[in-house]
Amino acid sequence: MDRRRFITTLLATCLLPSTRALAGNPLIPFTLSKDEESASFVIELEGSNEHNVFTLDHPPRVVIDLPQVTRVAPSSALHQHAGIVEDVRTGQRAGGIRIVLDLKTLKQPKTHIRQLGANRSQLIVSINDPDPLMAAVTAEAQSRNQPRKAIIEIDAGHGGKDPGCVSADDHYEKYVTMGVADYLKGRLDTDPRFEPSLTRDSDIFIPLHQRVLMARNHHADLFISIHADAAPTTKAAGASVYILSEHGASSATARWLAESQNSSDRYASTRDSEIYSDDPDVQSVLIDLSMRGTDVASQKLARTTLNHLGSVTALHNDRVNKAAFAVLKSPDIPSMLVETGFMSNRQDCRRLLRSAHQQELAEALHQSVADFFEANPIPG
Ligand SMILES: [Zn+2]
Repeated sequence: MDRRRFITTLLATCLLPSTRALAGNPLIPFTLSKDEESASFVIELEGSNEHNVFTLDHPPRVVIDLPQVTRVAPSSALHQHAGIVEDVRTGQRAGGIRIVLDLKTLKQPKTHIRQLGANRSQLIVSINDPDPLMAAVTAEAQSRNQPRKAIIEIDAGHGGKDPGCVSADDHYEKYVTMGVADYLKGRLDTDPRFEPSLTRDSDIFIPLHQRVLMARNHHADLFISIHADAAPTTKAAGASVYILSEHGASSATARWLAESQNSSDRYASTRDSEIYSDDPDVQSVLIDLSMRGTDVASQKLARTTLNHLGSVTALHNDRVNKAAFAVLKSPDIPSMLVETGFMSNRQDCRRLLRSAHQQELAEALHQSVADFFEANPIPG
């Protein structure tokens, strides 16, 4: 995905020199490519390539100790879903850094050192791969050539005890949002490019932060929250699209940083390895990078969505709006909130209640998602 390239570029160029992460030793990037059967871990080392690689069981894992390295970070977002490696953790030890690859089942790794220059080498740790060197060389190309389905988390706003906005003639937003969400899921289900998932498929109440966690647990590539508006004036009409505001993003960064540093917290337990490190500086860089990449992707998604919505409904605002909505606060999942129209406007409300219009809205959202991934394909 675009986000991944963005993060990689930032890591490689502008961001690191400007952050406090550089106050100490350099941040060494590593890559991990994997599929169901095998995995390949590659890190480039300057100077000493001293390493100790061994396995431990309960849970099954490969441990890579690098005594001469003090800071590491994935060079791009690691995709957890599918694959022999279920999680990646890094930690500082008295003697350097420890990287732990949690495996589905215990496999013996092979290590290989590839000399890149007088003072530079590559450490390749391959799991279950017959040819570790080839695996490392072709890993990046392979991951680009194997598109997987994009996972779309569809969030029908409100539900249960929370009706959302209520129209003058007592119609509830929560039923409109469920209707559009259902139609969108139905459409994405039949599109081989996508794997949709709903935060709720019935009239139940789900707290906002739990909706964000559900998207994370489903390893969503996109998060779309569907709502309908209300305004004090009954004249306000049309659809709008929101993404997370800068203020919302910075407060979310602070919160994630605080919470992810508590190893027993609920976020860490959702296996955020791509944005997790127990080095606080590295952690803050990773979250920051992730937020910035996500913001760019969310902007693109929201822009495309406004264009498509504009052909099935009036737009309340033809610009992408920014707000600190709680459901948009995933640091690494491009997210948007779509206000499909106004419950407080008679005409809008009447249309929103009609299933034909809900289907039109779902079609516009489907096209938006398809356009987004056409322009920003996800890596394998
Ligand atoms: Zn709402």
